[in-house]
Amino acid sequence: MSAAIFSEIGQALRDHQRFAVLSHVRPDGDALGSELALALSLEKLGKTVRVWNEDGMLEKYNFLPRAELLTKPPAEKEDVDVAIALDTAVQSRLGNTVDAIGSAKLWINIDHHPSNPGYGDLVYIDPVSPATGQILFDLITDQKLPLTQEIAENLYVAISTDTGSFQYPNTTARTFEIAAQLIRAGVDVGRVSQQLYENYPRRRIELLRELLGTMRFEGKGRVVSFSLSLKMAKDLEVLPEDNEGLIDHLRSIRGVIVAVFFEELAEGKVRVSMRSKTEKADVCAICTKFGGGGHKLAAGARVRGTLAEVERKVLEAICDVVDCNS
Ligand code: 5GP
Ligand code: MN
Repeated sequence: MSAAIFSEIGQALRDHQRFAVLSHVRPDGDALGSELALALSLEKLGKTVRVWNEDGMLEKYNFLPRAELLTKPPAEKEDVDVAIALDTAVQSRLGNTVDAIGSAKLWINIDHHPSNPGYGDLVYIDPVSPATGQILFDLITDQKLPLTQEIAENLYVAISTDTGSFQYPNTTARTFEIAAQLIRAGVDVGRVSQQLYENYPRRRIELLRELLGTMRFEGKGRVVSFSLSLKMAKDLEVLPEDNEGLIDHLRSIRGVIVAVFFEELAEGKVRVSMRSKTEKADVCAICTKFGGGGHKLAAGARVRGTLAEVERKVLEAICDVVDCNS
């Protein structure tokens, strides 16, 4: 099944000249690493490639090989032959990158979110793949597209971050086999891991201290949450990217089934980020009720309302699923 669609996508990549590679707002390592990896492979084929993200390159991921290629979209529209959405469950999460595309003959959608409805002309969704970077590795090797050390390092970061450093249950033998091949292609595991996991700005840890001060448990310790208000973010001078992954401290607690992070946003909305330890507590289903989506064990939504209102509604919805009273 994948072979046929990989051939179609491979041919589209070879047959066209001008590409725009895009991914979701508030990008993570899978989004940014996947964008750069595919863009570098296309560049090696002699293609003209734009690599856009609404948020541009994050300070945290500036170490990625050829990070400078990835920019915010320009104000002027540009025509391309092919636009490629990576790791993006719904088209609206491409944000303002879409506004910069004047026309595109073809839209390609490559993703691993089960909630992806399959927008675009050429679509490959593999919901069991732990990372879009893993799908791209398969596409690149299947179609014999260029795979340099720089590409390998970007793919490695994509896979490492979306598997929680090869720990989440979505990590399979295949994931380790791919990682081994990427290391053979030149990835420096020690250097990359240090950049990813031992190079945080101090303000992130100061933020963690503040967040833990707001930590609250419900349902006999099965549900735990903490919240970031706009005031707290302003006082600590944190960037939106600083909180990526802090929710893992909540999930790591014994007895916790669902962990939630509430982040007050400027436009009267709250970003909700959820993690679960069991597929029985499907956080994608909960987030979908609030207009969001994601995976069974990691999902999110943006919910209109004040921090207190959203906290109450969302925690209630979680308690309906996770039996909080028995
Ligand atoms: P995070 O909690 O790290 O922001 O996101 C976890 C997962 O949920 C990611 O796979 C992400 O794509 C998805 N996700 C987060 N926020 C939203 C949202 O507002 N809408 C949808 N559809 N998915 C989201
Ligand atoms: Mn991903």
